[in-house]
Amino acid sequence: MKKKVVIIGSTGSIGFKTFNVLKKDKKNFDIILLTTHKNVRQVIKQATEFKVKNIIITDKKKFNLAVKKYSKNNLNIFNDFESIKNIIGRKKIYYSMISVSGLEGLKPTLILSELSKNLAVVNKESLICGWSIIQKKLIKFKTNFIPIDSEHYSIFTVLKNYSYSDVEKVYITASGGPFLKYPKRKFKLITPKKALKHPNWKMGKKITIDSSTLMNKVFEVIEAKNLFNLSYNKISILTHPKSYVHAIIKLNNGITKIIAHDPDMTIPIHNSIYSDIRKKIKTKELNFKILNNLSFNNVDKKKFPLVKLLDHLPLKNSLYETILVTVNDFFVYKFLEKKINYDKLINLISKTLNIKEFDKFKKIRPKNINDIYKLRDYVSLKLSRLSI
Ligand code: NDP
Ligand code: MG
Repeated sequence: MKKKVVIIGSTGSIGFKTFNVLKKDKKNFDIILLTTHKNVRQVIKQATEFKVKNIIITDKKKFNLAVKKYSKNNLNIFNDFESIKNIIGRKKIYYSMISVSGLEGLKPTLILSELSKNLAVVNKESLICGWSIIQKKLIKFKTNFIPIDSEHYSIFTVLKNYSYSDVEKVYITASGGPFLKYPKRKFKLITPKKALKHPNWKMGKKITIDSSTLMNKVFEVIEAKNLFNLSYNKISILTHPKSYVHAIIKLNNGITKIIAHDPDMTIPIHNSIYSDIRKKIKTKELNFKILNNLSFNNVDKKKFPLVKLLDHLPLKNSLYETILVTVNDFFVYKFLEKKINYDKLINLISKTLNIKEFDKFKKIRPKNINDIYKLRDYVSLKLSRLSI
């Protein structure tokens, strides 16, 4: 029997790659649901190609248009992640990929943590803000969790054979983005077009900007702290422009594991899909030129000051992480809309996070998804009233 799978955010960079892996193995997989926010054309194309019966289009306008145009084609079209429950029913499906961007990913993550045997999550915002809630569900529903962010997938593969207490130190690598060697004094001249040109990875716009400011690494350290139950002082960031090594795990038995692969997210995606039944993946031959030229450095915190945010974060998953994600989101979109320059993007994120009122949230743990979404909406409203 074919294994049932869903892709939440199938029109994005990771969703698309997941779809392409499954496409090569139609005889073993049945995609029962695909989702998009606005990209109707793409999701319909995917649904037609794989004979998928259910799609969710979360944008209301696009949903209405799509219902008029495509409903008759033996296709059920929904508007809300709530409908996932009806689509799947009571029996767990084999695999879910959560590849939505932003905190909207938390809702399907929680729903699918009850309804999937294997839950693959690349959406880092939900793992940063809602890990304590997600983790409870994973335990309660005995769901196998697979992190897909390449650094975390690497750590995850190593820690399958060790316990968290065996870890002395984890190093997460950062490509350094397009501005690793770019002079700081010219930062205010950086345009969205320039910042969106990542040297190694082709990703969605939001994460590409985060990658250039190194906020993406701040997020990934929090993600690693949550997922692997580590304290912040056990996690370091290293710049590594080749993006060949994703994580280095120093164990307290004297052994250090270095996990490397080409900078292609298909590798963690493929392995997460085939975690039960192993399947070979075609990759390039080992390149000694790359291996002989691996280079690692500490982050220049003067140039990338957002990394210093890590010095003031609470150890336990708190509501403050929701503020961190929301504030960053807000200013990244302002930069993409050319409302602020690159220098301001970095300064405003740091300055806004210093607002005294936000401090108290470092001590409050999120009890449920509403706590997180309510705070996000409150902070977004507050930010929209700022004159910048
Ligand atoms: P993309 O922007 O390429 O894709 C995002 C997907 O989510 C699209 O399908 C998009 O629909 C959908 N979406 C966007 N906004 C909403 C919303 N409000 N409600 C419902 N669906 C929405 O992102 P990426 O694939 O690059 O990244 C996805 C996640 O994975 C992010 O959290 C990112 O940080 C993380 N990640 C990505 C990596 C990468 O290599 N790309 C690597 C590691 C982590 P539509 O097409 O209509 O916009
Ligand atoms: Mg990553």
